[in-house]
Amino acid sequence: TVSEYEIETVDVVEDVAADEGPAPVVAVVGRPNVGKSTLVNRILGRREAVVEDVPGVTRDRVAYDAAWSGRRFTVVDTGGWLPDSVGLAAAIAEQARLAVDLADVVMFVVDATVGATDVDEAVVEILRRSGKPVVLVANKVDNAAVESDAALLWSLGIGEPHPVSALHGRGSGDLLDAVLAALPEQAPPETFDVETGGPRRIALLGRPNVGKSSLLNKVAGETRAVVDSVAGTTRDPVDELIDLGGRTWRFIDTAGIRRRHRENQGADFYATLRTRSALERAEVAVVLVDASEQLAEQDLRIISMVIESGRALVIAYNKWDLLDEERRLYLEREIDRQLHHARWAPRVNVSAKTGRHMDRFVPAIETALEGWNTRVPTSKLNQFFADLVSSHPHPVRGGKQPRVLFATQAGVRPPRFVLFTSGFLEEGYRRFIERRLREEFGFPGTPLDIAMKIRE
Ligand code: GDP
Ligand code: GDP
Repeated sequence: TVSEYEIETVDVVEDVAADEGPAPVVAVVGRPNVGKSTLVNRILGRREAVVEDVPGVTRDRVAYDAAWSGRRFTVVDTGGWLPDSVGLAAAIAEQARLAVDLADVVMFVVDATVGATDVDEAVVEILRRSGKPVVLVANKVDNAAVESDAALLWSLGIGEPHPVSALHGRGSGDLLDAVLAALPEQAPPETFDVETGGPRRIALLGRPNVGKSSLLNKVAGETRAVVDSVAGTTRDPVDELIDLGGRTWRFIDTAGIRRRHRENQGADFYATLRTRSALERAEVAVVLVDASEQLAEQDLRIISMVIESGRALVIAYNKWDLLDEERRLYLEREIDRQLHHARWAPRVNVSAKTGRHMDRFVPAIETALEGWNTRVPTSKLNQFFADLVSSHPHPVRGGKQPRVLFATQAGVRPPRFVLFTSGFLEEGYRRFIERRLREEFGFPGTPLDIAMKIRE
């Protein structure tokens, strides 16, 4: 048998460097007092259990990061949702339906010392109809003498009962092995080579004449470090590797920037096409804007393309040397208003001509890449939503009030969130959520992808 010490916890932020895709969700379902919370604490290990001791915290926090054998998953304790006023059977049925909706795997906990009750049978019916994988937990099997109690639960007809003592840890390793086996196939890792130490990929974007090739010459020339050119299919090098701020960066499609002047025909069309394909290969985009001119429709379109592509974004105001005091003051007042949909992007005011503030480029890019790669632990995220839902509930619509039940961060680059909700969240409320997420966790320089999973 497996001892209780074999269960380990992994803090996702520290220990899981690469993005493995969305963590699958494991929901724990069962009647009150069968040992669901004890089991969840057992799975999470001591660290989370300590947090549980804080009064008032437990109830709001329903989802937790967990890991077993190197596989990450989210455990959801559905017990916290039980409405007090409804009858027990109805409440449990409701809880089971919720769990089925949002979980990849359901852990159904039965008290083996009590045996299967009518309520348990009713839950089994719901679980069976859902077709979701179910792992049957026969809890409170504290010693070998009561193991036969567990075997009786075969009668429920949802497969093998796994005898466990959530209190003492007995059998919990085998149980987690069974949960892992029931999880969906792991998503293939992202294709980005960001964590392998390859050069970070920058797309330098902007409409004609904002100063892209001047800037490129400046950064490449000043550091005298055009390390290498990367051969493309044409005779021109497609990308350039440039040393900046102590590391090598890959500037995407510099050929396109340097060659632009030869492509006058249909320039707009090609520029859009090039921007799109550069973004596909980039991790971060630096959008260059001419500070001496009005912000153009085309500037905004390029910025929107970056946001839609999900890449990190830095906005650089170039030709700052041309600005007089009056224009500078005007810009300082106007920039936020003009770029309201990208307020979170780091901004630098530079001059490719004089070299002004070139040293601020790299820190801005690094900040954006960090925001792009930020992961918030599930427990923190759910504390955040618990607070948000109670302090700023969604407005009541048609007698209903949609709620965020819980949330997980499904990925990074850019950060992707999935909100499990009890109804449709209005556009305004979703924007409010994004704003509050940024206030709380930062996310400089990155778009956020926020998806909803609605329960009817
Ligand atoms: P929940 O209502 O399903 O979340 O159940 P709890 O986790 O709060 O547990 C209910 C009671 O059962 C508590 O007194 C636990 O200490 C006890 N309990 C939980 N798991 C076990 C177990 O494996 N063995 C024994 N003997 N008691 C347990
Ligand atoms: P691109 O089309 O975006 O590659 O822009 P270029 O680099 O070809 O620059 C367009 C024009 O702006 C050229 O005449 C540059 O000399 C000029 N230019 C670029 N950067 C600056 C700058 O920081 N200050 C000033 N005064 N002129 C600049």
